[in-house]
Amino acid sequence: MKTRIFFLFPAVLILISVWSCQTVEKETVPEVRNVILLIGDGMGTSQLYAAMVESETPLFMERFPVAGFQKTYSFSDYITDSAASGTALATGKKTRNGMIGMGPDSVPVKSILELAEDHGLATGLVATATITHATPASFIAHQVNRNMYEEIAADFLATEVDVFIGGGKNHFTRRKDSLNLLTELETRGYFLAGSLEEAGELESGKLACLLAPGHLPTWSEGRGDMLPRATEIALNLLNRSETGFFIMIEGSQIDWGGHDNSLEYVVNETLDFDRAVGKALSFAEKDGHTLVVVTADHECGGLTHVGGNIAEHRVEGHFSTGDHTGVMVPVLAFGPGAEKFGGIYDNTDVFMKIRNLLNLEEE
Ligand code: MG
Ligand code: ZN
Repeated sequence: MKTRIFFLFPAVLILISVWSCQTVEKETVPEVRNVILLIGDGMGTSQLYAAMVESETPLFMERFPVAGFQKTYSFSDYITDSAASGTALATGKKTRNGMIGMGPDSVPVKSILELAEDHGLATGLVATATITHATPASFIAHQVNRNMYEEIAADFLATEVDVFIGGGKNHFTRRKDSLNLLTELETRGYFLAGSLEEAGELESGKLACLLAPGHLPTWSEGRGDMLPRATEIALNLLNRSETGFFIMIEGSQIDWGGHDNSLEYVVNETLDFDRAVGKALSFAEKDGHTLVVVTADHECGGLTHVGGNIAEHRVEGHFSTGDHTGVMVPVLAFGPGAEKFGGIYDNTDVFMKIRNLLNLEEE
């Protein structure tokens, strides 16, 4: 009798410990509370790899455990523009090139940012272009044409967006209707900041930070660390939210390097974007409930590598067009839910996956 118990006891212990391990594991799978979506406009795999090769140190983007690809074609064209691809990423709907936040039938579609607001999450937008430009606009505005910048600016007042940082002050203040939308935002409780120094002083509340009349300068012409700093400031403010947040951060000008067929422009902008990715990554590593997704809206320039040298950190690039191309673009994911982003899928699935992970069903 004694010996039997002696043998049974460790077996029972093992069973109990296996059972409790499983329970603990289930309970500690972290929920997705925050999502940081970073879009490198025009950043295909060639742009990303050129920055990796030319950098003396590994990129933050190389630290992501999950990688996938998404297809960028729009409703109207095999080659998308940033309005249709931005709309696909933001709303889950393919649309016609040029359209912002609406389907091909011109019916407005709610964006992931608007759904997040409906569910009480804090929201933000950061860009190095005007904040009214196609990519950020797709997350907040609903207009038939991406060039309707003043109408897009007015759409910022139709939402409860908590933080936005970028260029495009003129679209808010020097308008055909002579309204001053910044004054209006101020009466609604926004803190207006004309510099990142001012913005950094804000400890809580809503922030409208427009840093230039139009686009921000290129990185090589003195934009400095605007994008990584704006990312840090926005994340600090949104982190006050107890219900979580959604933010889209854009490296807007990688695309413009592609249009210019300038490898140097492309690489400088991609490296700057990567530093913003680094800020998002370190936030997510500390937080544990933050999903970080990095992707592009399309490739630009048809960039390929026709030569180079790894040891010398040198790439010989060749551009095949001054416009966008139809190739698939990378998706990188880190944090809870990251595994959902492996594989090959449509740009619209990026929206679906984020919506499902945040439990943002439309009412
Ligand atoms: Mg853009
Ligand atoms: Zn472009």
